[in-house]
Amino acid sequence: MPRPPRRRGTSDGATAMAPAGAQALSTLPGVGPKVAEKFAVRGLLSVQDLWLHLPLRYEDRTRITPIASLFPGQSAQVEARVEAVERSFRYRPTLRVAISDGSRGTLVLRFFHFNRAQLALLVPGRRILCFGEARPGQYGLEMVHPSYRLLGDDADVGVRDRLDPVYPAVEGLGPQSLSRLIGEALDRLPPADELELLPEGLRDRLKLPTLRDALLTAHRPPPDTNLRDFELGVHPALRRLAIEELLAHHLSLRRQRISLRAHGAMPVRPAGKLAASLRRGLKFELTGAQQRVLAEVAQDMAHPEPMLRLVQGDVGSGKTVVAALAAANAVEAGRQVALMAPTELLAEQHLANFRGWFEPLGLRVAWLAGKVTGKARTAVLAEIASGQAQVVVGTHALMQDKVVFSSLALAIVDEQHRFGVHQRLALRDKGLSGSQVPHQLVMTATPIPRTLAMSAYADLDVSVIDEMPPGRTPVQTVAISGDRRGEVVDRIRAACAQGRQAYWVCTLIEDSEEVEAQAAQSTFEQLGLLLPGLRLGLLHGRMKSLEKQSVMADFKAGQLQLLVATTVIEVGVDVPNASLMIIENAERLGLAQLHQLRGRVGRGAAASSCVLMYRAPLSQMARERLEVMRASTDGFLIAEKDLELRGPGELLGTRQTGLASFRVADLARDAALLPEVHAAADALLAQAPDLADRLVLRWVGGAAKFAGA
Ligand code: ADP
Ligand code: MG
Repeated sequence: MPRPPRRRGTSDGATAMAPAGAQALSTLPGVGPKVAEKFAVRGLLSVQDLWLHLPLRYEDRTRITPIASLFPGQSAQVEARVEAVERSFRYRPTLRVAISDGSRGTLVLRFFHFNRAQLALLVPGRRILCFGEARPGQYGLEMVHPSYRLLGDDADVGVRDRLDPVYPAVEGLGPQSLSRLIGEALDRLPPADELELLPEGLRDRLKLPTLRDALLTAHRPPPDTNLRDFELGVHPALRRLAIEELLAHHLSLRRQRISLRAHGAMPVRPAGKLAASLRRGLKFELTGAQQRVLAEVAQDMAHPEPMLRLVQGDVGSGKTVVAALAAANAVEAGRQVALMAPTELLAEQHLANFRGWFEPLGLRVAWLAGKVTGKARTAVLAEIASGQAQVVVGTHALMQDKVVFSSLALAIVDEQHRFGVHQRLALRDKGLSGSQVPHQLVMTATPIPRTLAMSAYADLDVSVIDEMPPGRTPVQTVAISGDRRGEVVDRIRAACAQGRQAYWVCTLIEDSEEVEAQAAQSTFEQLGLLLPGLRLGLLHGRMKSLEKQSVMADFKAGQLQLLVATTVIEVGVDVPNASLMIIENAERLGLAQLHQLRGRVGRGAAASSCVLMYRAPLSQMARERLEVMRASTDGFLIAEKDLELRGPGELLGTRQTGLASFRVADLARDAALLPEVHAAADALLAQAPDLADRLVLRWVGGAAKFAGA
């Protein structure tokens, strides 16, 4: 076991007592309140945050490359003399400086911004040292805006003895100041044994360098470092950092779970009458998987510790009704239930379902979203506070401070991957009465491979609904080149002629809701011309929510036959009569998203199909993805393939998950390390909880504090 840190003897009061890493950035020379603020925007608060601010890439100034041996795309340092200087103003001010180094080569340095002082110094015959990327130019190779330095005739070139790090930018701070400050921070690295938090056994087993060595190698690699290993993330220094980071995140989630479980919760043990009435009203029987999961949930809720359960189930597996039955139990016990969904569209559907199920039983289901304002809002808040509203359905709006429950016993969060852990925890705090917190039920349709789930959801127990309701025929999937649009349009015509409905999904061309909405609009117009006599609807994120609601209602009621939409329909839209899904530019989407979209069809008894339209030529990767979709409808299998094909950075990507975003680690690349990480977490929690605390503080820091762990 590593020793606890020795206090370092410095003279400046309170911070002197803090270990070097925990010292505030303002203890570094040249960091005043203004600079500290710039770092803070980037989440960099302490000296150790700078240790962990790793370079994006490196520049090799450890050698001089002869101009004659430069190749296009190479970043290199060149030592030469100025041959000729030329200014032109033709299109924009340009300065071209030809240099040569006696290696039979000439290189042009091109500047678009330059000042007089520069001009005065750049004269033929001057000795110059420059660094940049060689690119093919008009007259051979050139470097655009290289960094350079003029040298005296006898001056020593002074090649570096290690690679220069290039750091991710901190806005408002020049790269040189940033490098200098990180250098200062690194100079404060304590001796290896003081810094070390990983158990020795783990380090030995995996042959990991010490943290000190790993950090110094990552920030100041020696000239012979294999940069390719760095790029691939397999360099031992990076592996060491990644493992420690994964361990810290895992510990953070585990500790959140432990501390949350330490709070009490209201045990919910109703006779089950309300749930039984609800079940009698359903038009179907629960599947075996639904019954099993419901029993798991009911058992959790009967305990005086809060339930922390994730229900995973493929799209269409019927998670909503399980949530509703759990809600019925809480209400029968005299308590309130909150159901939060990530989008208004999805929340509205839940509202419609819950009202349909609960209102006939005499319960009050309230609605709270951002757009509920003024008097209506005041009224809803009052109903929630008095307990008159037994069930409250809504969006993020539920988490605002003004929302106070009278006795919240169950918080249900749908599509967890759209919310961050912190948001989920904020809802938990709504239940605090004395020290009690509500039971939490989280539902997600994102099937996550088991190894990853253990890491991503280390704070939750997991139930899986692994059976589809009966009477569904699997969706037939085909991939078709966009050239055959005409055939696709014929298919829509045929499906609608049989009384079925269809979706046409326009995918993101740029990462902009605006552009996406435009694309959907023009597709809507084109299809209107191609399909005269069909009733078309349009749905995109730019529409007012009332408009969206009415379009959805019309589609659901069968008034509209074809719904042209953006990917806003990805989550939760449920229209069983829709049996055809067209996805345009399917090659642009990841497997998880394609699977979600396809899940909108195949919800009724009719045979459904999904057409993946692509624009040729397909990349190898895109071809494989479409083939996976064609061959399988099993969400878990698709998730495994997704992981293989492109890595969970995207599978659990920040856009979708809000889950941990890592500084060094990459769950796909490092998945093989996870069993070690989990075992190490068990050992640390049992034997050295103080080390666990310090690991979490080092890597997760403020975020974990915010989560109230
Ligand atoms: P998801 O798990 O994707 O949220 P939903 O809860 O929206 O799925 O359910 C999908 C559809 O299946 C809904 O129309 C729902 O009423 C229906 N459903 C749920 N459970 C069953 C069942 N056991 N038998 C038949 N239909 C069911
Ligand atoms: Mg759902």
